[in-house]
Amino acid sequence: MELEPLRDGHGRLIGDLRVSVTDRCNFRCQYCMPAEGLPWLERSGILSFEEIARIVSLLSAMGVHNVRLTGGEPLVRRNFPELARMLAGIDDVHDLSVTTNGFLLERDAEALVAAGVNRFNVSVDSLQRDRFFELTRRDALPQVLRGLEALAAFPEAHPIKINAVSIRDFTEEEVLPFAQFARRTPYQVRFIEFMPLDADHAWTPEQVLSGEEIRAAINLTYPLEPEPREASATAQVYRFADGKGRIGFINPVSEPFCGDCNRIRLTADGRLRTCLFSLRETDLRGPIRDGADDRELEQIVRDAVWQKELKHHVGEPGFVQPARSMSAIGG
Ligand code: SF4
Repeated sequence: MELEPLRDGHGRLIGDLRVSVTDRCNFRCQYCMPAEGLPWLERSGILSFEEIARIVSLLSAMGVHNVRLTGGEPLVRRNFPELARMLAGIDDVHDLSVTTNGFLLERDAEALVAAGVNRFNVSVDSLQRDRFFELTRRDALPQVLRGLEALAAFPEAHPIKINAVSIRDFTEEEVLPFAQFARRTPYQVRFIEFMPLDADHAWTPEQVLSGEEIRAAINLTYPLEPEPREASATAQVYRFADGKGRIGFINPVSEPFCGDCNRIRLTADGRLRTCLFSLRETDLRGPIRDGADDRELEQIVRDAVWQKELKHHVGEPGFVQPARSMSAIGG
């Protein structure tokens, strides 16, 4: 049953839902969480597969046809491929993607592709084993690269995107190795500016290595040509002038892309977030568990989305970092 398309108060059509299926992760990335991890959400408070499927089904009937599954690390959730299969089976879900750190891809790639996941973003912040270990606090690069290879064996999984968080005084050494990686492999590398969503609230603007700085550095060695930006896209993609691959830049801090934002998020404990940097959330789990029908749920969603923020205020006076960190929001 098709419902009225979901629109925010600024007239933007919402077409993209990011679902955090767990706040837990098997990595401890320095820019995300402390070494000891975080107090995890109560298991009883985590949405069940059926609850997630109900919300996704309702939102997809409102025109939200693209669903991205994130975490924490989604592949640590038990039977995760089963959830993917349930969501891929919803008629109005046209595109199902996963963001993962790749550590469990060697185990799950086949099951996820068979379940109907058609796009993958793999987070890799360094191509050097010791530096990867330093940043993630896990000696896991070889395992992640094996996972990527396992995934790359499935033609339907392409294009596979690599997300590298860019941090000043760390990523500079990774820029050319990643450019060469993008040129010799089928993966599309994208650099993502470090955002103030770390659990330690230690982020400073000085730590942001901007996409433009990285682009300029690569362009000196490997000339780049811009590709047209897709509507609501987060990345500005460039092709190597000699035709050897593509590379992208996601610059939420230095070049915000909020104007045509079509994204909303669902947390693992059933909260709707209308912006990555929202300071408010709308509870969907409570109404669901209290027996709300789809009409009531639809109205709650529409009221929340009507209030969707026009843009983020990172770097502006008075910016307040959300209490919930990236690991509990999902990319
Ligand atoms: S910061 Fe908020 S409004 Fe801007 S692009 Fe991200 S989710 Fe959309």
